[in-house]
This record gives sequence, C-alpha cells and structure tokens, in this order.
Amino acid sequence: MTLQIPFDNSYARLPDGFYARLAPTPVSAPRLIAVNESLAELLGVGTAEAAELASVFAGNEVPQGAEPLAQIYAGHQFGSFNPQLGDGRAHLLGEVVGRDGKRRDIQLKGSGRTPFSRGGDGRAWLGPVLREYVVSEAMHALGVPTTRALAAVRTGDDVLREAPLPGAVLTRVAASHIRVGTFQLFASRRQYDDLKRLFDYTVQRHYPEATTPAELLSQVCERQAMLVAQWLSLGFIHGVMNTDNCTLSGETIDYGPCAFMDAFDPDQVYSSIDRWGRYGYSAQAEIVVWNMAQLATALVPLTEDHDRAVEEFTEIVHAMPDLIRAEWLRRFAAKIGIAEPRPEDAQLVGDLLAAMHANQADFTNTFRALPAGTARDQFTDRAAFDAWEARWRSRIAEEPDPEGLMRSVNPAFIPRNHRIEQMIAAAVDGDDRPFHHLNAVLSCPYDDQPEAEELQRPPLPDEVVPATFCG
Ligand code: AMP
Ligand code: MG
Ligand code: MG
Repeated sequence: MTLQIPFDNSYARLPDGFYARLAPTPVSAPRLIAVNESLAELLGVGTAEAAELASVFAGNEVPQGAEPLAQIYAGHQFGSFNPQLGDGRAHLLGEVVGRDGKRRDIQLKGSGRTPFSRGGDGRAWLGPVLREYVVSEAMHALGVPTTRALAAVRTGDDVLREAPLPGAVLTRVAASHIRVGTFQLFASRRQYDDLKRLFDYTVQRHYPEATTPAELLSQVCERQAMLVAQWLSLGFIHGVMNTDNCTLSGETIDYGPCAFMDAFDPDQVYSSIDRWGRYGYSAQAEIVVWNMAQLATALVPLTEDHDRAVEEFTEIVHAMPDLIRAEWLRRFAAKIGIAEPRPEDAQLVGDLLAAMHANQADFTNTFRALPAGTARDQFTDRAAFDAWEARWRSRIAEEPDPEGLMRSVNPAFIPRNHRIEQMIAAAVDGDDRPFHHLNAVLSCPYDDQPEAEELQRPPLPDEVVPATFCG
C-alpha cells in the first residue's frame, strides 16, 4: 500500500469499555467518488491511485497505523433515554494531528455492522453520504464549526431501504466524536472511574484550560450556544438534535435529515421523523439548553458535593438563553449591516423576520439582497418592506461599512434541498457532475458567482422538498 496516513491514536488508548475493536466489513467493488484534497493536505494524508484510495476509504484495506474501533455511547433520542447506542455503522480508523497542529478523528461511516448495530445493516446509501459530504463541507465554508468530509466511495453493493439503493461510505473527519451521550453512558451505568477518564480525556483534548466539571460544562455550554446561534443565522435546521448527536467539541455533527430553509418560517421542520417539531428551526435554541442540562446531569457524579454541583451547574445551564440571545443579536444585526448592536436592534431584526415570514420571503436571498437594494423584490407586500426599510436605512446611516459587513456574513449560496435531491438523483443514475459542481460553488458561499446563479434560486413549486429523511 502506498497511501500514508500519519495516525497518532489516543482514543484507542482508553480502556476496553469505551469501544469495540473491529475492522470494517469489506464491500464488493469500491469506486472512488471524491477525495477532499485540501482537507487531505491539511491532515497530512498522502496520495495514492484512485483504486487504492477507494479500497481504503471503503474499509476494504486498513491502512498502516489505523486501529479501527466502534465507539460506544448512549443518548436521549427525541427525549427518551436510550441506555446504549454506539457506532452502529461507523468505524473510527484513528486520529491524525494536522498541519495546523489540531488533532482530528478519521472515521468511516457506512462501513459495516458492529456490536452496536442493533437491528441496522451497518450501511449507508449513496444519497445521505453525498448529502453529508456536500452539507458538511458547505457548513465549513460558511464558517460553522463542523465535522468534515474527506472522501466518498461507492461500495458496489445495494443497500435495502424502501427499495434497493446503491451503497456508499463516507469518510468523516471530526475534532473528536465525544458526545453528550458518551458521558451519559458511563453516568447511567455508574461507571464513575470511566466517567472520570472520559472527563480527563475530553479536557485534555478540547478544553485544556478547564480543571473542574463546572469549567468544562460552562465552556461546552458556551460553544454550543454560539453554534446554535450561528445555525439560526444561516437558516440551518439540524433535524435530529439528540444528545448522541451533540458534541463536546462544539462541532455540528450527524447530517441526517438536516436542511437549510428556503422561505423563512420560524416553525419550519423538514425531518420526516420529527413528528412534533421538537427540533424545528426556532426550537433549536431551547433544545440545545435541554441537551446541556443532560450533560450537566452526567457530570454531577464527578463532584464531591452533589447538591452544590447541581446548584452551580443549573446556574451555568440557565445562563445559556442569554448567551444565545446575545449571539443571535450580534449575528442577525450583522446580517442587516450593524456591527455593534444595541438592545433595540433586536426589534428591528424581529420586524424584518416577521415581514419575511408573512411574505414567505426567501431567507438567504432576502439578506443577500439587502446591500444591493433589491430585497424589496422578495416581498409580495412591498409597502410592509418599505416601512421597515426606512427605519433600517436611518439606523445603518450611523454604521461605518454596512454593505461590506452584510456581504461578508450573508451567503449567496447555501446547499438548497432541491439541489441536493437533484444531485442525489443524478448520482444514482451514475452522473456525479452535479455533486462536484455543488461542492465547487459552495466552497465560496460568500462570493458572487454569476455563472452559478441557478443555484441561488429557491425551488419552483414542483421542486420543493417537503421532508428529509435519515439514511
Ligand atoms: P442517528 O440518528 O444517525 O444519530 O443514529 C442513531 C443510532 O443508530 C446510532 O447509534 C447509529 O450508529 C445507529 N444507526 C443508524 N443507522 C444505522 C444502520 N443502518 N445500521 C446500524 N446502525 C445504525
Ligand atoms: Mg448519530
Ligand atoms: Mg445519522
């Protein structure tokens, strides 16, 4: 094998109870769809011929230095505690320390059954693999903390969903795969020595300044608060914010039924499995607090005085809504050209959003059109916009560079649902050009790209994707 990956594994040094060691299950006919070259470069992952890359990123060949394992975790799924989940279709190959000095996991997803597969087949089909590739890389380009995509491979095997579908494997890169659910596993089993080991490991890997559970909790709460405010500012809906899909690192993880909104609707839900809207657009700001309360609960056993810890942790978690509100205002004020918001600017933003909702204005295009002076076209009730615009103009008259600010924070391009669905349909037919085109355009989402204007257009009535699915 010529492919060199400079593995430097630390999770595999933790005790047996943290994972099951096992190799991915080989597939029939691996074929490379894509390798993310700039990410490979950052990670120090070498090059090799396409056939070898396909073989490694399908899990058929385990590269030198990899120590494949499936991680165990628990988690609340739609509010109900599941005492044991784990990587049911993923294998952590190991970690690398990149050229930027950062340690990251390299994980295969869709790589076969593990002891944590429960009833699942351990596989993924092409659609969700390409969706995660495109959306996670788009999120990265948008500036959002996120797991990334290093490679995608067709397996040559069918996966049985509603029908037989082409199988694929995604190579995911993450700051780590430590989840709220990882803490919940050891806390719920009363394995307090392992809980302490996980705490020490997490602190060392992500929060070296933190010395106590309270400090860890407060830093994770802050990162998660910032993350969710940023999602909201981009119209992003994660779709399945279970505690096992909530990272300690503060990265967005698990792109299943996620979606970016087209027309603004604060109650928007796309996920087909989110029947009650638990994880709808606006609900995300509340659910992240709930998730952090679960982390807090799992950390209590690590403290000496539980009653005092509960009080202290409650205070930390209860500080989140204010953090989120402040970050929400900072981000949305920037979207309308205000660099240093005042409290009353929340009303100005809120009134625009209300008018956008009433007019079904496109979220991304409305904000992008503000500096160009064409946002009015997004509203059927032009007078409503005009009234708002007059107030807005007088407010930003005091700002140093509102146009520049707006252009730098309001993307021209987001991975729109209908384009993702069209891209997947083409790939199923063997045409990967839309996939590559989407990736190329979305790698510079804040640039005007006149040749790609079609990707800015909201869906036509017959293109609307009403629901998204896990894969
Ligand atoms: P998710 O909703 O994607 O976060 O997945 C929840 C749990 O189900 C995780 O433990 C996954 O590993 C597991 N899972 C999802 N799909 C499959 C599958 N096809 N085969 C085995 N396990 C799966
Ligand atoms: Mg998950
Ligand atoms: Mg998933």
